[in-house]
Amino acid sequence: MVIMKFGGTSVQDAAAIGRVAEIVRSRQAQHPVVVVSAFAKVTDQLVMMGQQATSGDAETSLQLLEGLRVRHLDTAQKLLGEKGLAKVEGKLQATFAQAEAFLKGLAAIRELSPRSSDQMLSFGELLSSEIVAAALAVRGLDTVWVDSRKCLVTDAKHTRALPLADETRAQAQKHLAPLVRAGRIPVMGGFIAATEEGVTTTLGRGGSDFSAAIVGAALDAEAIEIWTDVEGMMTTDPRLCPDARTIRHISFNEAAELAYFGAKVLHPATLLPAIQQDIPVFVLNSGNAKSKGTRITAQAPRGRDTFRAITAKTGVSLVNVVASRGVMVHGFLRSVFEALDRYAASVDLVAISEVSMSFTMDSKRLPAALLADLERIADVTCEGQQAIICLVGEDIHGKPGIAASVFETVASAQVNIRMISQGASEINISFVIRESDVPRVVQHLHARFFTHAGAAEPGPKKKAVELVANGRGGGNRVKRVSSAGKATAGKVN
Ligand code: ADP
Ligand code: ASP
Ligand code: MG
Repeated sequence: MVIMKFGGTSVQDAAAIGRVAEIVRSRQAQHPVVVVSAFAKVTDQLVMMGQQATSGDAETSLQLLEGLRVRHLDTAQKLLGEKGLAKVEGKLQATFAQAEAFLKGLAAIRELSPRSSDQMLSFGELLSSEIVAAALAVRGLDTVWVDSRKCLVTDAKHTRALPLADETRAQAQKHLAPLVRAGRIPVMGGFIAATEEGVTTTLGRGGSDFSAAIVGAALDAEAIEIWTDVEGMMTTDPRLCPDARTIRHISFNEAAELAYFGAKVLHPATLLPAIQQDIPVFVLNSGNAKSKGTRITAQAPRGRDTFRAITAKTGVSLVNVVASRGVMVHGFLRSVFEALDRYAASVDLVAISEVSMSFTMDSKRLPAALLADLERIADVTCEGQQAIICLVGEDIHGKPGIAASVFETVASAQVNIRMISQGASEINISFVIRESDVPRVVQHLHARFFTHAGAAEPGPKKKAVELVANGRGGGNRVKRVSSAGKATAGKVN
């Protein structure tokens, strides 16, 4: 069995869905289960509509909903013809009626809770999956639409729900496995799930990849295919650097690190279920089905490049916390960590000295109350619009001079580094720069480490790094909390 997930751009219009049908046909012998995202941009529009309705502007939100109705019905009509459309139109209109009633309700109560937000966002995948299931059927594939909320069971952490593995396995075995055994092709929406009580949840933005992996693990699939709009996982985001190349083979660890540090091509949690059951994951281009894309497995052979890839995670805030003069140093760090714990703060990078600590967080998830709490114990500065650049590679461990060469390259791009992190036994080097410097830095690093013919020389030996996190006293120790939650410490070199 193979799980085939198609992202938003892969189902963005009738032509794209036509290509999906041919790709699924080519895998028929491998017993596919199809998972689809909402049509491109639809989830963003649903977010906006929810906000508009909540702010009292029901009219604009309903106008946007009309736009979505026209787009979906028009796409369905192109794919299915009038007759085919007539068969699914009732269900599509029922979903639009629900969305309309929901928006009116939001406008009345003026409150968008995480639970209502999940309900609002679920409409995108419900609509797309119905249309794709019908379109594949019209093209001769024996599809069955399946409600993902019956198969994926999660906790109640709305907007970022986590799967309950045993319950999901039981439901997937009950609702999906018999269809596959009968030679049929289940088609379901990604991203959406439900609690044990049946309340709709979502797995976080970009979560359809995660859905595919969860279903793959629950059904003991032989492979999970993530079909998207680029030729696999690449040496960096091709939108940032046109020279980016496809990585043919990469390890679970490296790919998970890349996803966690900003490679949007995979949702960061996608690989966990695959790792647990050792299921290979493929990232493939739905616009060029013949290309090989990327294979992600437990181990991958070493390549000739020093690093596997470079990522950039934007929308980050850098918080510097420095013990106020005269305050007892003893207990300072404990107080900071306690404050982070109280707000369940999800911190990416941390740098520590005896009397100061710097950390980065996703700006959208940094509570103002956390900063206010920290201000009670220390001097605090917080800078938004920062980015984490991360270079990943299993080969870098134990090789001298790599960090120096990275930082020289950044200096040659005339860019100031705000904070550094390199775990001693880890597989990445990460540092923080201003968001506006991201394209320049990524292009310089890519030219230095990936473009072999005419690779750029390292820049002049000038002062490369300003360690904001240095605090008072030298010998800055640097800590990184990895995606797996473990912390490693090492000296900056
Ligand atoms: P989908 O809608 O198929 O889920 P996404 O937009 O979520 O697609 O992810 C694909 C995008 O990820 C690409 O268009 C690309 O710009 C971006 N991306 C970021 N980093 C990488 C990388 N290292 N390799 C490939 N794509 C990347
Ligand atoms: N449609 C959802 C989103 O845009 C999930 C996904 O595309 O993976 O976040
Ligand atoms: Mg995606």
